[in-house]
Amino acid sequence: MDLMQKLEILADAAKYDVACTSSGVQRSAQRGQLGSARAAGCCHSFTPDGRCISLLKVLMTNVCIYDCAYCANRRSNERERCTFTPRELADLTMEFYRRNYIEGLFLSSGVLRTPDYTTELMIRTLEILRFQYRFNGYIHAKTVPGTAPELIDRLASLADRLSVNLELPSQESLALLAPQKSRQDILSPMKRIAECSQASKEERALARRRTTVYAGHTNTACLKRRGYAPAGQSTQLIVGATPESDLHILNLTAALYRNVSLKRVFFSAYLPVNRDKRLPDTDAVQLDREHRLYQADWLLRFYRFDVTELIDDAHPFLETDIDPKANWALNHLDLFPVEVNTAPYETLLRVPGIGVRGAKLIVGARRTAMLRADDLRKLGIAYKRARYFLTCNGVWGGAGCTFSRESLHAKLASPIDGGAHGRRADRPIPGQLSLFGNDDEASASQTVGYTTGRSPRLGANGEAPASQAELGGKPAGQLRASPPLPSLPRSA
Ligand code: SF4
Repeated sequence: MDLMQKLEILADAAKYDVACTSSGVQRSAQRGQLGSARAAGCCHSFTPDGRCISLLKVLMTNVCIYDCAYCANRRSNERERCTFTPRELADLTMEFYRRNYIEGLFLSSGVLRTPDYTTELMIRTLEILRFQYRFNGYIHAKTVPGTAPELIDRLASLADRLSVNLELPSQESLALLAPQKSRQDILSPMKRIAECSQASKEERALARRRTTVYAGHTNTACLKRRGYAPAGQSTQLIVGATPESDLHILNLTAALYRNVSLKRVFFSAYLPVNRDKRLPDTDAVQLDREHRLYQADWLLRFYRFDVTELIDDAHPFLETDIDPKANWALNHLDLFPVEVNTAPYETLLRVPGIGVRGAKLIVGARRTAMLRADDLRKLGIAYKRARYFLTCNGVWGGAGCTFSRESLHAKLASPIDGGAHGRRADRPIPGQLSLFGNDDEASASQTVGYTTGRSPRLGANGEAPASQAELGGKPAGQLRASPPLPSLPRSA
């Protein structure tokens, strides 16, 4: 099979993995090396100036000895199978990089022979990139459950970010749908990556204080300079394939952030690709639910919310018609409206329509002037939402409705027209990046929607984002126009 056929198969097979977004790692260009990694991130992500940057997202192989019920690449599915050699994949990555198509690599894989064998193939690929081509750009690698710890360490020393996909939210669901995987095989590497990454950061900080210089270009020096998975680790959870509630999923998410220092938990609405009696008998993809989970996740990480404030046993699923922050505000109307000119920063953060950046701007701007509604608009606040919960110099902006739960709920649940904020229901849902121009099948798959469909310029809960950090989730711009590929050289 030729290299382009392999690329087509293995890039398409990688589209189900959503656990990739901005890197968070900052590494400037190095003398004698190619590429750099920016804190702005990569992998179909957006920089603060709106630029889309992308990774080559591909599988090492779509051969798999496992038979996970939900997976298109499972052993029992009839499909064309292939595997890159490390040399082929490294060459391909460099060719794409040199043509300015990509800024890094997202490498995942099925399980070929054994988890260790598969990981060794991935390691070899990354070694060629890092040491032979001196590729200094961003690399995100997926670890295969059951891989030996020393191989995970080696992979972590070559990649910027690792992900270990939990996939299913409970042990029972894992046993039902992915019986060859154990929760222990997934959680152990997560713990190891968290501990080693922390130890590596402390060691490097100590080395910097001692003004230690890692001289030369030996492999060891390169590894020390890069550190152990410096962009941390992430995971992915499938939503809707099993009966776990949003409460269960958010509690698990919070525990993962707390206990294994995950950078991100990605949610992927279950997409039916197999007929299997263990799977839900529906073709519906719960994109709304996925979107609400991302918003709740945002509130946990950036807005100092606790899971118990968003959801409880009595209502174990998030509301679908309003976002979790607006729902919290409606449940606490006794705290609103707040005076924008005097409310503490923490209180402003709780106002629907005001994000982290907006709250900071308000606190800065009101030092020199009494803020009015127009000033808030100029600061980029989503005033159409925020006005129901604010007074500006004593004036409440919610004309046209009463300050009651029912009235405000109706206002917040209705679409907001135009402007820089609000939902964009008219936008097509973009999908997986296609490397192949004029590919009807790829175009068709884009309509399936692995993204929230949220505008890249909107943060969680419809607010203006604070920074790249708030431009995450599954960005709406995964689709980028892809020019036809020139012929690439066969592998050496
Ligand atoms: S191990 Fe991964 S690639 Fe293999 S069947 Fe399971 S989910 Fe699919």
